[in-house]
Amino acid sequence: MIKKIIIARSKGFCMGVKRAINIAEDTARKATGPVTILNQIVHNEAVVESFRNMGVGQKWSVDEVEGGTLIIPAHGASPDVMAVARAKGLNIIDATCPLVTRICTRIMEVIPRGYYIIHFGDRDHDETKGILGHAPDRITVISNMAELDNYPDWPDRRLGLTVQSTMGIDDFQQFQAAAKKKWPQIETFDTICNATTERQKAIFDMAPGVDMILVVGSETSANSKRMADISKAQCGRSELIGSAVDISEGWFVGDGAGIETVGVTAGASTPDFLVEAVIDTLLALSNGAAEVILQEDLAVLDETAEDTEK
Ligand code: SF4
Repeated sequence: MIKKIIIARSKGFCMGVKRAINIAEDTARKATGPVTILNQIVHNEAVVESFRNMGVGQKWSVDEVEGGTLIIPAHGASPDVMAVARAKGLNIIDATCPLVTRICTRIMEVIPRGYYIIHFGDRDHDETKGILGHAPDRITVISNMAELDNYPDWPDRRLGLTVQSTMGIDDFQQFQAAAKKKWPQIETFDTICNATTERQKAIFDMAPGVDMILVVGSETSANSKRMADISKAQCGRSELIGSAVDISEGWFVGDGAGIETVGVTAGASTPDFLVEAVIDTLLALSNGAAEVILQEDLAVLDETAEDTEK
């Protein structure tokens, strides 16, 4: 039976996601012609659907956009895509997160100084594709440690290491250590964003005190999937759920009857209302008996308990 629900101190919408949604909503309200979002404004089904309901179109390629306004999503787009959009005369509204832009700016600052970039990121992710497009002949994308062996030693190359904004902090540390072994001259430009770091650190801190962690986020969200992986590794039991309807009562009965404390967190593209519905569902499963505690209040509660014992 669920007795405690711990809400992560850092979860849900990040600055870049809020900004992109605000820009897209504002654009949709004011536009007089068709508005299209390239790919997904952020990687969350509920958010994507809300724009669909507002009459905003969605295309996976700029080639399919006939005219009107094109919104570039939070993950950005490559210079090639922007060039095609401009050539088509589209009204471009750029909602790229400034922290994604910062990665591209950093790379484009050091390349003229002779650097080649090793970028640690998911090859298929929109952010990685956009970054790679800035200098495809100078950036090598590596998606996992095993791939390192596929590359030469490049002793004469000046190398810089960048990383996808939503990569796991532990994964990056391991990758960085292996990259430094292979290329001792490589310099790190740590480009994991603060929102990612804070959400992952909250999970590391929460995991020892909970029996299970629910991560609210879409399967399409890289940062939500990473948070679920970290939760599973740290806590042993974790589920990535799109919304409250994905919660199974069976998780908390039978073999799951030992689950008394449930941690709840959410990816950077998950709206608050989805998290609130998850908390409501967990409360209902406890027949309203579970205590809901904010992670940031846990230390205060522990200190109070210690004082009482003294
Ligand atoms: S996760 Fe980081 S880089 Fe991605 S949109 Fe949010 S703040 Fe920007």
